[in-house]
Amino acid sequence: MTALGDLADRIDDTALTRGIYSTDASLYRVAPVAVAIPKNTAELVTIVRTALAAELPITSRGAGTSCAGNAVGPGLVIDCAKHLTKIIDIDPQRKTATIEPGVVQADLQTALTKFGLRFGPDPSTSSRCTIGGMIGNNACGPRALGYGRSADNVVELKIITGTGEELVLNADTKLPELQRLVASNLGTIRTEFGTFSRQVSGYSLEHLLPENNFQVAKFFAGSEGTLGVITQATVNLVADAPHKLTLALGYPTMADAGDDIANLLQFSPTACEGLDARIVAVVRRSGKPVHKLTEGSGWMFLEIVGTDTAELISRGEAILTQANAIESWIVTDQDQADALWKIRADGAGLAGVSLPNPAYGGWEDAAVPPAKLGAYLRAFDELLNRYELHGLPYGHFGEGCIHCRIDFPLDSA
Ligand SMILES: Cc1cc2nc3c(=O)[nH]c(=O)nc-3n(C[C@H](O)[C@H](O)[C@H](O)COP(=O)(O)OP(=O)(O)OC[C@H]3O[C@@H](n4cnc5c(N)ncnc54)[C@H](O)[C@@H]3O)c2cc1C
Repeated sequence: MTALGDLADRIDDTALTRGIYSTDASLYRVAPVAVAIPKNTAELVTIVRTALAAELPITSRGAGTSCAGNAVGPGLVIDCAKHLTKIIDIDPQRKTATIEPGVVQADLQTALTKFGLRFGPDPSTSSRCTIGGMIGNNACGPRALGYGRSADNVVELKIITGTGEELVLNADTKLPELQRLVASNLGTIRTEFGTFSRQVSGYSLEHLLPENNFQVAKFFAGSEGTLGVITQATVNLVADAPHKLTLALGYPTMADAGDDIANLLQFSPTACEGLDARIVAVVRRSGKPVHKLTEGSGWMFLEIVGTDTAELISRGEAILTQANAIESWIVTDQDQADALWKIRADGAGLAGVSLPNPAYGGWEDAAVPPAKLGAYLRAFDELLNRYELHGLPYGHFGEGCIHCRIDFPLDSA
């Protein structure tokens, strides 16, 4: 990296900095050769090209909240979160925002408040995670059911590729070599990719199918920095519906709640979260307040939104009529609704740290087609029991996403 000249002081290879950047929110520890902290886009481009010329592997990094080692690497880690934090443009008419990759999700939301708009995906790390990192991971969050994943909200990306070329990825981008690759694998891509919304591991080749109009910016989302470095992103924004309503549904078990998902998704909820008595017990034990719940040992909380309260309530009643719950409520009181959602939020925070033995990250996100969720949850519990392991599953049931940290005996295995 000596070729950097004036930018040499943007590179830090001290043991302290390499140690700090050797971790993210995963179990992995990989010390980089050095860390680069560019102050603007031009510096980012120069640093990437210099690293490529020196044949140094590059890992782009936002806030480093990834759970699977996505933001650590052995070569040059480029910190995009420190200075590349400019909100370049907000267009309330087109409902888009153009930003540098290091803009924190919550800072973008704050800037959008006066326009009555927001960026749809809202992972629980939104107070610190960056839009570049969200696009890198195709981050979702509980309301992705209503507002889409990061990939669904990307309009245009400016990137630097692995050959140092600057590219604009948008609806007009044509990349003949990639198009040829897709054309010669149409059958596999059509049958194996994008079969349900949370199937987000690996490259999302379904966005490149001819019937999906070769949406290469959406394809880039979720590629975890392996296809290039984002220097600028334009994303879609959504307007919050003026009214929302919470429904609480109780089932004998969480798996029974899972069996009911396909039945309820036809009503287009914006959130559909599942939990069971194990998580509720943990919240209770922690001393946090637990609002009274419906009958049952497995629960689903649904959120529906709309422009008219009466229409919302009649849609809520239709859902309850259709649901196979043993008891269900329409929660019109907002304080009561907030208290119910708080059980879910507190439970999520406590789930990974409340077992007698340590439970580990790294295997904690499962993606299951929603129609198979009930069967999956039963089989998952059987598997845990068979190997005398423990976990507290809960998740974004509407998308078939289950979170569970397991107490694998890593110390003795
Ligand atoms: C407690 C906890 C809760 C979480 N909850 C959720 C959740 O609800 N939903 C969810 O989806 N995720 C969740 N996550 C995972 C993570 O927080 C999100 O994926 C987040 O969006 C990552 O953003 P980041 O800025 O930390 O990115 P990083 O972790 O720094 O990076 C993420 C990926 O993007 C790449 N990247 C970063 N910047 C760029 C760039 N400029 N160009 C190209 N690639 C880049 C990185 O190389 C990496 O592969 C959670 C994590 C934790 C620890």
